[in-house]
Amino acid sequence: MTETTIRKIHLPSDQDASGRNLGQAEIAAVSEAIQSGTLTSTKGRFVKALEQRFAAMLGVKHAFACASGSAAVHCAVAAVDPEPGDEIITTAITDMGALAPIMYQTAIPVFADVDPRTCNVTAETIAPRISQRTKAIIVTHLFGNPCEMGPIVELARSAGIPIIEDCAQAFMARYDGHPVGTLGAIGAFSLQQGKHITTGEGGLVVTGDDALARRIFLFINKAWGYGDPQPDHYFLALNERMSELCGAVGVAQLDRLESVVGRRIALAAELDALLCGIPGVALPYVAPKSVHTYWKYCIRVDAQVVPDGVSGVARLLRDYDIFTVPRYIQKPAFACEVFQQHRTFGNSHFPFTLARPEALDYSRERFPGTFEALDGILVIPWNDRFTSDDVRFIAEAIRTSVATLRAGKS
Ligand SMILES: *Cc1c(COP(=O)(O)O)cnc(C)c1O
Repeated sequence: MTETTIRKIHLPSDQDASGRNLGQAEIAAVSEAIQSGTLTSTKGRFVKALEQRFAAMLGVKHAFACASGSAAVHCAVAAVDPEPGDEIITTAITDMGALAPIMYQTAIPVFADVDPRTCNVTAETIAPRISQRTKAIIVTHLFGNPCEMGPIVELARSAGIPIIEDCAQAFMARYDGHPVGTLGAIGAFSLQQGKHITTGEGGLVVTGDDALARRIFLFINKAWGYGDPQPDHYFLALNERMSELCGAVGVAQLDRLESVVGRRIALAAELDALLCGIPGVALPYVAPKSVHTYWKYCIRVDAQVVPDGVSGVARLLRDYDIFTVPRYIQKPAFACEVFQQHRTFGNSHFPFTLARPEALDYSRERFPGTFEALDGILVIPWNDRFTSDDVRFIAEAIRTSVATLRAGKS
């Protein structure tokens, strides 16, 4: 196929105004924050409003804003307060911001395998990783698609282990009618530039548990007991606060969340219909009890059917200016240097020095689902500002690229 026959569309991008909903409401709120002269959340009203409204939206007792999604996970891990060397079960297909906090709190990330259809952990993959030292289970609702929480909640309850839900990619996703973030003990969200809604950087932590809420609040605030009769710094903690400038943007963004999510779901249904029946291409698998909110739209490409698989499709899609990400994070998180070399604090290798050998066994045969998932996925950028025409353009480009590869013409 020659360059001239390809019709190109500039797809909205979440990295600039074309694919973000930042408008008059955000400008007005930020302006009000600046004019108030109070930019710290300890005194201002916007971060408090963001917290109260997000808690109400999710129907959860407590919500706290913080500096990033990584900080949100950090708060969650700190709230369960692991002893050095305690284990936290998680996934190897995630953002490093979800893993680094585990080591900062001196715990050991223990990786569970995933279901290759969803790239999510399941009760079956978590169960064999549970040990005497398991302090928490982090489940990541990848791409906005909820984990199968029913069996996971049952497993965690019977083992007496709290669940932390990483909802950074899954605003307003639901499982069995409940919003993600409210199915476990703690939920963590990200407001980073590329997420469903954004404050540039930012995070939210939710919990229904008063004691966990108290620890999260303190952890965000250098463990200073604001409002106590005789406050002190009760334990080791940094300043993880969100500023009022971000809080102001966040309040305005929350107003848009429902329509952002609704639009992403509707557009995904359109793409589902258009991609249906392409040989070697599997659509996103959504479990019967799940509502997927499509941070990204992720297909799987069978390299047995489509020569050159995800790499081939991604290469041909570039001719349409459609920039997909084959294999998402490229390699499992445990293949990164920080885990391979245990590069942490000086040359101490702490906290890995405290780990059971099995907890650090990253051999390939223990992660068949993880490797299968990463080999076969193609992450398609997704945006609530796409038009139906954009979706048809993406579908046609995929259909043509797959046909070209199958015909051996690329
Ligand atoms: C984005 C993301 C994070 C980290 O959020 P930041 O705001 O970038 O720190 C954590 N977990 C997952 C699954 C993410 O996608």
